[in-house]
Parts: sequence; C-alpha cells; structure tokens
Amino acid sequence: MNTATLISKLHQALVAEARRSYPNVQGQRARFSEFVFEQLGLVSDTLPHAPDLQNRISDFRRKLKRYDDLTPIERSMVVDGLLGALSQFTKAQFVQPSATSAPAPSKPAANAAPSGSKAAQPARSGPPAAIASSSGPLDQAVQYVKGVGPKLGELLGKIGILSIWDLLYYFPRTHLDYKTRTRIRDLEEGQRVTLWGSIQRVEAFHPPSRPNMCIMTVHITDGTGRVSARWFQGKTTRAQIELFKKRYPVGAQILVSGEAKFDEFSGRVAFDRPDVEVLGGTGEAEGESIHVGRIVPVYPLTEGLHLKALRKAMHAAVDAFGHLVPDPVPVSLLSRHGLIDRRTAIRHLHFPESTEARDAARSRLVFDELLMLQLGLAYRRAQVSRQQQAIQLPSHGQLVSKLMEQLPFELTGAQKRVFDEVRRDLAAPEAMNRLVQGDVGSGKTVVALLTLLVAVENGYQGALMAPTEILAEQHFRKFQEWLEPMGIPCALLLGRQGKRERGQYLQALKSGYTPIVVGTHALIQEGVEFQRLGLVVIDEQHRFGVRQRALLRAKGLHPEVLTMTATPIPRTLALTMHGDLDVSVIDELPSGRKPIQTSWVQGKGRKDAYELVRHELQKGRQAYVVFPLIEEGDPEEGKQALRAATEEAERLQTKVFPEYKVGLLHGKMPAISKDEIITAFRNRELDILVATTVVEVGVDVPNASVMIIENAERFGLSQLHQLRGRVGRGAEQSYCVLVTDSRSDQTRARMEVMVATNDGFIIAEQDLKLRGPGEFLGTRQSGMPDLVLADLVEDTETLEKARVAAFEIISSDPELTHHPGLKADMLRHFRSNLGFLGIG
Ligand code: ADP
Ligand code: MG
Repeated sequence: MNTATLISKLHQALVAEARRSYPNVQGQRARFSEFVFEQLGLVSDTLPHAPDLQNRISDFRRKLKRYDDLTPIERSMVVDGLLGALSQFTKAQFVQPSATSAPAPSKPAANAAPSGSKAAQPARSGPPAAIASSSGPLDQAVQYVKGVGPKLGELLGKIGILSIWDLLYYFPRTHLDYKTRTRIRDLEEGQRVTLWGSIQRVEAFHPPSRPNMCIMTVHITDGTGRVSARWFQGKTTRAQIELFKKRYPVGAQILVSGEAKFDEFSGRVAFDRPDVEVLGGTGEAEGESIHVGRIVPVYPLTEGLHLKALRKAMHAAVDAFGHLVPDPVPVSLLSRHGLIDRRTAIRHLHFPESTEARDAARSRLVFDELLMLQLGLAYRRAQVSRQQQAIQLPSHGQLVSKLMEQLPFELTGAQKRVFDEVRRDLAAPEAMNRLVQGDVGSGKTVVALLTLLVAVENGYQGALMAPTEILAEQHFRKFQEWLEPMGIPCALLLGRQGKRERGQYLQALKSGYTPIVVGTHALIQEGVEFQRLGLVVIDEQHRFGVRQRALLRAKGLHPEVLTMTATPIPRTLALTMHGDLDVSVIDELPSGRKPIQTSWVQGKGRKDAYELVRHELQKGRQAYVVFPLIEEGDPEEGKQALRAATEEAERLQTKVFPEYKVGLLHGKMPAISKDEIITAFRNRELDILVATTVVEVGVDVPNASVMIIENAERFGLSQLHQLRGRVGRGAEQSYCVLVTDSRSDQTRARMEVMVATNDGFIIAEQDLKLRGPGEFLGTRQSGMPDLVLADLVEDTETLEKARVAAFEIISSDPELTHHPGLKADMLRHFRSNLGFLGIG
C-alpha cells in the first residue's frame, strides 16, 4: 500500500469518527484509535527524511494511546489536529527522493517504505479500511472515482484533495463560456470575452533590450480578424519554447478567454495571460462533450496536473457521487431565499448548462459557506455565554447622572443610544460582549467612563486597557479631570512606572480602595490583583491579541467586557470577524464639528501646504507633519523613516519655520521624552509636531488644526483616516494635506477617496474594496476559516441572510442536537480551528 492510500484511509477513518461525535468507533478489525495508531506508524516509516513530522506523529500516537480517557472535546482536538496534519504528510511524501522519481540510486532506499513502489494500486474492491463501513461513500479515497489512478491520485493529494468529498468541493476558478462566443471583428477594448479560432502561428521572442524576458505569443484567427494571446516569462530555454509550441499546434482550434486590450505596438487586439484551451487533438473522443460543452470549468492546477484530466475526473465524480452529497440545510430556509438544492448546485457549479444555472449554483454554495461561518459564530457565542455565569450590574444612576451633569457638553444622540445598549447588557443576566465602533472623535472615551461608573455604582472595580502609554495617560488625565470633583480615585498602571508609584497603585487596587484603573499591557502583568473586578474596557481592541484580552478578563471573576475601536470595520467584515459580539456604532460626531478639508498634492505642492500651515499658526493654531513608519516592517525601512522625520524636523525648524517651535515625536524615543513632547505640544509650547505614526492613536489636542502627511501612498486608507482624525477635534475649520509623489492609478484612487469623504465607514469600505480583506485586516488574528467562494465585498446580502438564519437555528437548538447534519458541516468548515468554536 502506498502512502497516498494509507493517508486517504486515515482521512476516511478520521472523518467517520468526527461524524459520529468521537465514540472511538469499532471497525471490523480494530477500534478507531487502535487503527489510527497503527496506520500512523506506517506513515511514519515512510518519512525517514522528515524528523519533524515523525515527532508530530509520535505525539499524535501518544494521544491516541490515551484516547479512551479523553473527553469528547479533547478527542475532537486530536482528530482535528490529525486531519490538519495529513496534507503535510502527503506533501512530505512527495519530496521524499525515493518516491518522486524511480531511479534515485544515490539516496539509500528507505527500509520500510513501501511507498516507493508506484505500481501499488489502491484497493478498488473489497473492504477498504478497517472502519470504512462506518463512513459515507464520499469519504472514500479519491481513487474511487473512475479515471483516477494512483498517479492522478497523488497529484490531487498535493493540492489537498484526498477524498471524493474534497474533489467535489474543489471549485472552478472560472468557466470558459463557449456558448456566448464573440467574433474577433466585434471585439471592443476592455471587454471580457471568450472567442474561438484557430492557431495561425506561434512565436517566442526575447526583446533585445530585455534579454531576461521572453514573450510567448499565439496568433489566432476566426475568419473575421486576428488577435494574439501573450505570456511574459523570465529567461526561457529552447526546450521550454519547444514545449510551448507543441502545446499550441498550428491549425488547432483554441478557446481564448480574457480581457481584450489594444496593443499599440502591433496595432491589434491582444490578450495578456488569457485562459486558453486547445480543442480537439488526440485521444479525447470519449470525453469530448465535457471539454467543449457549452460552458466548461477551469480549475486551479498544480505542476503535472492537467486541466483536462482533472475535468474528466470531476465529471466522473459529479456523475457517480454528486447525488450522495447530503443537504442538511432546512428546505424552508432554502425556499425562503430562493436557493436551489445542494446537489444540483454542486453539479452546476462544475458543469453549468447556462450562466444563469452557474450563478444559481454559486449563490447556493456561497450561502452554505457563509451559513457555516455564521453557525460557527453563533455556536461559539452560545457556548461562551453559557459558560460565563455573569454578574449583573443594574444601573442605579447616582454616579452616572452626576458625571453627566458635570460634563462640559451634552452627550450626542448616538452616545446616549450606545450607552443605553451597554447599560441593558450590564443589567442582563448574560455576560456583556459588546464592541463599540465609533469614528475618530466620536467620543468613545466618555462612554467608557460612564460604563465604568455603572460598575462602581454596583460596588465593583473597572479597568480600561489602552494599547499605548500615550493613550493610557491621556485617558487617565481625562478621567481624573472628571472623577476628581466626584471624589472617586483613579489609578494608572504603565510598564515604565517607578517601583513606589506602582506599589501604591497595586495596593490600592488589591484593597479595593481605587475603583477605576487605566493602563497599558502593564495591567495584565503578574502581581496586578483586584479586589472585585467586574468590568473590563478594552480601547482600540484590534491592537490587542486574543490572549491579552483573555488575560485581563481573567483578573476578575467573569467580568463584563466592553471593547472599543476607532477603526471602523465595514459591516460585512464586522459580521465575520466579530460575529460573536454585539456591535454598537456611535455614528454621529459631537455637534459643531466642521468636516476636515482634505487635499492631496505632489511634491511640488508642498510649498502651498506650508503656506496653509503658516496661516493657521498665525491664528494661534498648531500643526502636525507626519511620516510613515511601518513599525512591524523592515527595520531598515523603519530607520529610514525615522531619519526622514528627524531631518525633516530640523529642516522645518531652521529653513521653513524659524519663527516657530518645531518638536519631534517618534516611537523609538524613551517614554519620558514622548510625554514631555506631547505635554509641550498640548501646552502650546510647540507649534509644529513632526511625528511618525505614533500619533495615529488617540492624541487629543483640539487646538491643532492642520496636518501634513508625507508619503501618503505608504499608508492604508483607514490609517490615513485615523491620522487625519488628530485634527478637526475642535470647533474651528481644520485641514489635511496628503503629499505623495506616486503617480500610480491606485494612489490616485486612494487619495481621491480621502478628499471626497470624512466618513470612516465609507473609507473602510473603499479600503476593503481596493485592498481586499486579507490585507485590510493585516495580520490574521481572528482564527476564522478562509472563505473559498464567498466574497466579503460582493456577497454582503447573502451574508446578512445567512447570519439571521444561523442565529435563528442556534437560538432554538444551541448544541445543534436536532441538526446533526448542519453540525457536521460546521465542524468540517472550522476543522482547522475548532478552538474558535469553544471546543477545546
Ligand atoms: P474617540 O472616539 O476618538 O476616542 P474622544 O473620546 O477622544 O474620541 O473624544 C474626542 C473629543 O470630543 C474629546 O475632546 C472629548 O472630550 C470630546 N467630546 C466627547 N463627546 C462630546 C460631546 N457629546 N460633545 C462635545 N464634545 C465631546
Ligand atoms: Mg479614543
């Protein structure tokens, strides 16, 4: 038996065990844990060159030995970990020298490595794995599909397709639409089309000026005109060119699908890197209809895996197994949303009869994907709120109304509404898990303080954690200003505090004397103890990891949690990233604020920007000049930005604004100096603050009315918006000038967005559109599974529907006991991160 077969049997066994909720299934020959233990031993023997994997395998085997003693949750973690590891084993097996190419005499053959023999056929008939009887036909190895032999099986394994199930859920990247064929003479520039013609000529060209580049061109005609399809490559060998020519034989029919571009050089329409397919040719008679049918699927491939072979296998799989795919989604739900059944959807997503059929198929499967995601979120939420026996914090009102009376302003309608939502959460028996989103300057801090006061009214302590010292100090100062008249003490905890100061605060917290504390990460350090922590507020929550938030929560006994963010996340993303939280939005700025006037200029325009600054300074206002410093980035880059900021501060002081005072602030300064600088700026001892992105979060100096942002193209839109939010915090008109020398369309588009709107949510939506979700979110900390079909920008409506449906289902059946099929689907969807579901 070769490794691929071993692994697919393992896969089968694992899936079967998971489907049955981890009973340690009894197979024909052995129980699940014994069977897997044994099989892993064999797999391990085939990996003599991969000690890491062998260690992992031993680890799994140890756990399997104790499998009977594990709780179902622990079992699920073992099974899941293994499922995740399987593809690595498969990959490792392919880099194994003795398995890749037959003659590899220089390497010693692995003793017990039967995988070397490629001739080994997977057992096609007879009883497969010991426990196969307990798993469905779709869990069988992909070799059970007609036309998939060991070789194709191995190739599929490389891209993670082990079971028939995996194959059916391997979706096309696109389709070639042969039906709506366009004639070459009717082509229009920029059109996305499919056309069909014959190959006239093929050429490979090394431009003399770029010897390291090769342009491969296929010239095509359909009798109404001529076009070319082009690929640009690096240095290309003669053999590669020959191969290319062989792939595109002159005279053969070819389908081309892509965007038509007018090429000025040749005066013709060209397609760069189109999807193409050569039709006809050899040995295809049987499968002809699936390859030149009306709309044919195009799949992502890997080296050695050919489109036609995969398409053929897929066709066979859909034919033989498609009707076996379970559809656990309630019919009522499907009909409510006009969705087709899952089996038809799978068939049509691969082999649609029309574009409409394909779209309907996609809609259904996108819905499935989003439903599973939202089910996971709803499930997790139900788990969490059940585990937490929350405290209840009803509002008594004395402290809250006292603060309200004493504030120099009236709360905005949005602030009031959000605080009411928070109050309701606090009083309810379930633990609060609320995220407050509010654009920069919308006034989140005061809502945080009001919330903390509710805890204090109930005899509990409250803590607010902020991501930077600057921000923590600023909150502390504000809190003191407001709390002092009420006679409520407040503590501050920072990493750099002196021992004595820190000691006093710690004592005050432990004894319960101080009811409110503000701090940075210092709050979650060992030695920080509370007498009765009942509420935790986390400002700029996206700056903290999941672990840090959990650590702070652990300082209390099931405290209520309020998180806040000024990075507005488009609703679609909020629903996926924070789908287990309630979200409140402060969608109104305090009255009297004038929208910031934003413009963007290229380097030459800097002079005008300085004039604007001068004009504001003359009126007694202050200014920021900001340089990008991508902190986690390349340290060299960081140094460079730092140097730029330092030099610029000097230049501005001596050459441009000698009559004003210029200060410099950057992240690498000692905290004390940062403080001094900010204090000086706040006290108007400095007129201009040259800064790196440390000012992004939270600095609140309402007298500053103009900001210049250098190298604006280096910032994300949301970050630009955050930065810009440092001005416009008072009643006066404020300005922001974005300076960039980049002339790319992308930059232009981004700058225009900034000029056009001050609305953080619109900006975030645009940012998401321009950059895509991955980059928008930066580091992935959410633990969410990847979406394969769904698009968070395009599929918003479906997302909303799926969310409502998922939460309805979970509210009536929190454990999904009555929806075992949905539960199995959900677990499969989250299989690489069951921890997220609160399982484990
Ligand atoms: P952010 O939401 O960005 O954290 P802050 O809480 O720092 O905003 O508030 C920005 C500024 O607006 C602060 O100076 C704050 O005191 C002030 N502010 C907050 N709420 C109001 C209000 N309702 N009316 C007027 N000013 C307000
Ligand atoms: Mg804030």
